[in-house]
Amino acid sequence: MLVSAKEMLQKAKAGHYAVGQFNINNLEWTKAILQTAQELNSPVILGVSEGAGKYMTGFKTVVGMVNGMMEELNITVPVALHLDHGTFEGCLKCVEAGFSSIMFDGSHYPIEENIEKTKELVKICAEHGMSLEAEVGSIGGEEDGVVGAGECADPNECKMIADLGIDFLAAGIGNIHGKYPENWKGLSFETLDAIQKLTGDLPLVLHGGTGIPADMIKKAIDLGVSKINVNTECQLSFADATRKYIEAGKDLQGKGYDPRKLLAPGTEAIKATVKEKMELFGSVGKA
Ligand SMILES: [Zn+2]
Repeated sequence: MLVSAKEMLQKAKAGHYAVGQFNINNLEWTKAILQTAQELNSPVILGVSEGAGKYMTGFKTVVGMVNGMMEELNITVPVALHLDHGTFEGCLKCVEAGFSSIMFDGSHYPIEENIEKTKELVKICAEHGMSLEAEVGSIGGEEDGVVGAGECADPNECKMIADLGIDFLAAGIGNIHGKYPENWKGLSFETLDAIQKLTGDLPLVLHGGTGIPADMIKKAIDLGVSKINVNTECQLSFADATRKYIEAGKDLQGKGYDPRKLLAPGTEAIKATVKEKMELFGSVGKA
């Protein structure tokens, strides 16, 4: 059964490790992530962007697939199904569809409007036993067509949003979605530290986990990050393994064109990436 991400992240914050959010795109992605979490006895958050939800034909399909798969695969570790960067309307749809967690991204609104909308969702999530992530300060790069500049959030605004009763907070600390550019300045640990001092026990979320060096990840966890989002890295490892299979001409040998064979190397590659991240984040054995 799906669970809210509240408890797993509170435990992570207290235990000084982080739980990975791995975004899903289809059956292979979901299977690879769930199986790896179970094998490593790690809690896990499955992230679904609005675009990926649409691609999978809608949030109800996603809920049906994930619930069915958890049952068929005997998944017993805590799993949260979480909307990534939701609009207000998208959040309501996911509540309806049976998600166990949502992120409302009101970072592009003026702070007053972000507060108003977040407040409303705090109430709705509480009624449904769901967890809620809010965002302050846009995160750089592109997420479903929304381009942010990689700014640093205002710690006082973070405090205002934190006090509304959300369960975890995403704050821009110079992180970027997608691949990091050569001239990236790195994470702003001063900003993270200032936010953490004002928000106390609230678990903080690091978006754009792809390509942040391991030592920066560890330091961010030390400073209160308890959830790290990984998306692009699984896409890159899937594409790379699939390319190798095709380039080796394996789809032309025997029944190598069978999608169950064609997609297998990519699925294994996602598993390897998820394992590497769970080990780095320290969530192995914490289910
Ligand atoms: Zn994000």
